[in-house]
Amino acid sequence: MKTAGIYIHVPFCRKKCDYCSFYSIPYDSGLAAKFTDAVAENIAATSDLLKKHNADAIYFGGGTPSLLNDSQLDHILRAVRDNISVSENAEITIECNPADIDSGFFNAKSDLSVNRFSIGVQTLNMNSYSFLGRNGGFADERFLNVINDNSWRNISLDYISALKNQSSENAAEEIKRMIKTGAKHFSVYLLSVEQGTPLFSRFDFPENYDDHQAEIYYLVKNILEENGYRHYEISNYSMKGYESAHNLKYWNFEEYAGFGPAAHSFINGERYSFKDDVKGFCEGNFVKITDSRTEKDALCEFIMTALRLRKGISVNRLKSLFDDEIQQSVTDVFRRFLETSMLEENRENGVIHFRVPDESIIITDTVIEQICRELV
Ligand code: SF4
Repeated sequence: MKTAGIYIHVPFCRKKCDYCSFYSIPYDSGLAAKFTDAVAENIAATSDLLKKHNADAIYFGGGTPSLLNDSQLDHILRAVRDNISVSENAEITIECNPADIDSGFFNAKSDLSVNRFSIGVQTLNMNSYSFLGRNGGFADERFLNVINDNSWRNISLDYISALKNQSSENAAEEIKRMIKTGAKHFSVYLLSVEQGTPLFSRFDFPENYDDHQAEIYYLVKNILEENGYRHYEISNYSMKGYESAHNLKYWNFEEYAGFGPAAHSFINGERYSFKDDVKGFCEGNFVKITDSRTEKDALCEFIMTALRLRKGISVNRLKSLFDDEIQQSVTDVFRRFLETSMLEENRENGVIHFRVPDESIIITDTVIEQICRELV
């Protein structure tokens, strides 16, 4: 049997954060109840797609999945287990907002078999919190103590670094305070100011902003590595054995099935997403948008995702995914890039991988763009 990830997109938030460009709508308890039933129905209706798969990772993303109550979460998990084969030791993650976490939160979710918690802390600084226009749930001392009390669990914290005026001292202090909680995993994002967001309209890009972001990026990376976290993906660090099994599926070009409005799937060679329309979805209109792409698009997407991994791309993986001609042309381009500072060879378990060297991680997007341009 093949393995696959299951992704449930929970599209509700208390209020939109000013920097956010993800699909979500304001939380409404009536709609959340309808959404739960619709997702369960959609899973049952789509289960044929997964009859040859074993789900080894289930991920509730959003939005703010921790807004669902326990019985709603249980209803969806039952629908998954009733219709799809699930591994006994599957990683089951829920993204959470600090506002939803109290001393009973972790036990209640663990009783439902959730075993990984990805928490959107983003900042420990109230000025940064206001600057970001973040909604609900500032991670205060009470919150940090609850995380510390639960440090034996599989907890991941999200951190947005390199805000416009953030000093190195402030970034170092913030990440060290987060490390003290004993979290097993960190996702560290550089602030990305997307067009169309409220933050973009009030953001004044300072001079040398790229240099500022690079300085903070390497500072945070060094602190995490000094504290035993392994840098395994551009933005992700973990203690050994605590990498995100679900997100690794995206980066390794492995299969996953998404449920819920705006959820994406890559399963049985097909790529599609559900329309970003919560109300329609709740009425049972599971409108699928098929993603038809050329082989070159698929190849570039593979390079784009796999080069995010710090181990890089192995020749064996290229061989397993693409025909000889494509694999040869990619390897030729990679070899040319080895003569620049944009790629280097890395040996993992004796197998040659191509990866972006440490000093160029910050320009990974540019490296990928240039590689894809050279591919015919
Ligand atoms: S909580 Fe997350 S998904 Fe919701 S608006 Fe804020 S950043 Fe976006």
